[in-house]
Amino acid sequence: MSLSSPVAAPVDADPRAPQRVRHQPRRRELEVVRVEKIAAHMVRVTLGGDLDGFVSLGFDDHVKLFFPTGAVGADGEPEFESRDYTPRRYDPQAKTLDIEFVLHDAGPATRWAEQANPGQSLRIGGPRGSFVIPTTFDWHLLIGDDTGLPAIARRLEELPAGTRAVVLAEVDDAADQVAFKSAADVSVTWVHRDGAEPGASDALARGLASLKLPKGDYYAWVACESLTAKALRATLIADHGANPKWIRAAGYWRRGAVAVHENHND
Ligand SMILES: Cc1cc2nc3c(=O)[nH]c(=O)nc-3n(C[C@H](O)[C@H](O)[C@H](O)COP(=O)(O)OP(=O)(O)OC[C@H]3O[C@@H](n4cnc5c(N)ncnc54)[C@H](O)[C@@H]3O)c2cc1C
Repeated sequence: MSLSSPVAAPVDADPRAPQRVRHQPRRRELEVVRVEKIAAHMVRVTLGGDLDGFVSLGFDDHVKLFFPTGAVGADGEPEFESRDYTPRRYDPQAKTLDIEFVLHDAGPATRWAEQANPGQSLRIGGPRGSFVIPTTFDWHLLIGDDTGLPAIARRLEELPAGTRAVVLAEVDDAADQVAFKSAADVSVTWVHRDGAEPGASDALARGLASLKLPKGDYYAWVACESLTAKALRATLIADHGANPKWIRAAGYWRRGAVAVHENHND
C-alpha cells in the first residue's frame, strides 16, 4: 500500500504517538468477485475493479459502502445510504479488496451482504484518512465484538515478529469465531454471548476482569457496541493502568441506532 499524501502529521510530540494521514477521497464502482462464509454469521466479500490508487495505511481505517435505497432523489438520481466497513485486506497485485460483513438482524448492509453474489456492483468511498498506531509498544491489547474482528484480524496480520498482542473478542458462540494469522506472539481469549442480544451482554467486561495482562506499556484498541466501548475504556484506565493517550475506543454501532461511529475520548 502506498502513501497518497507525503504528510503524516503526528497527533502530539510523543514519539509513539499515532500518525494521522489524509487521503484524497474518491468514489469507486466495484464488482463482487467472490463471496465466502468465514463464520456462522460472517461473510467475506472480495471486490475487484476500479481500485487503482487505493490506500489504507491503518488497520482500523474505514470505507463507506453505499447501498441503493430504491428511492429516487429530486435530481432524478437513485438515492443511497452508507455504512462504514473495515478494508480488511487490499491486494494491490490482484487489485482486490476484502470486506467482512457481520450478518445481524437488520439493516441495508446486512441485507446486501446476505444476498451478495459475483458480478454484482458496490459503490465505495474512502478511506479519507488513516490513523497509524506504532507497533513499538511492549504489547498491544485488541478488544472487539464481531464488528471489530476484521480490524483485529488485520492488525494481527500486520504486527511484525517480535511484537506481542493480547486479544479479547466477543461473539455469540464458537461457530462465530474466526481464525487469526500473525507473526506476533498472540494470545486470544474468546467470550460468548450465548444467545444474549448483541450489545446487551457483559461478556467483554467479564472477560477483561479475568484477563491476566502482561507487564509493560501497551496500546489498547477497542471497537464494539458504543456504550460497551465507552465502559471498557473507563475500566482500562481505572483498573488496568492504561494510559488514556494510548487508548482508542470506538463505538462501531449502537443498539437501536443506525450507522453509528463514535470515538470515545476524555
Ligand atoms: C470504523 C468502522 C468500521 C466497521 N467495520 C465493520 C466491519 O468490517 N464489518 C462489520 O460487519 N461491521 C463493521 N462496522 C459496523 C457496521 O458499520 C455497523 O454494524 C452497521 O450499523 C451495519 O449496518 P446495517 O445496515 O447492517 O445495520 P443498520 O441499518 O446500521 O442498523 C440496523 C439495526 O441493527 C443494529 N445493529 C447494527 N450493527 C449491529 C451488529 N453488529 N449486531 C447487532 N445489531 C446491530 C442497529 O443498532 C440497528 O438497530 C464498522 C463500523 C465502523 C464505525
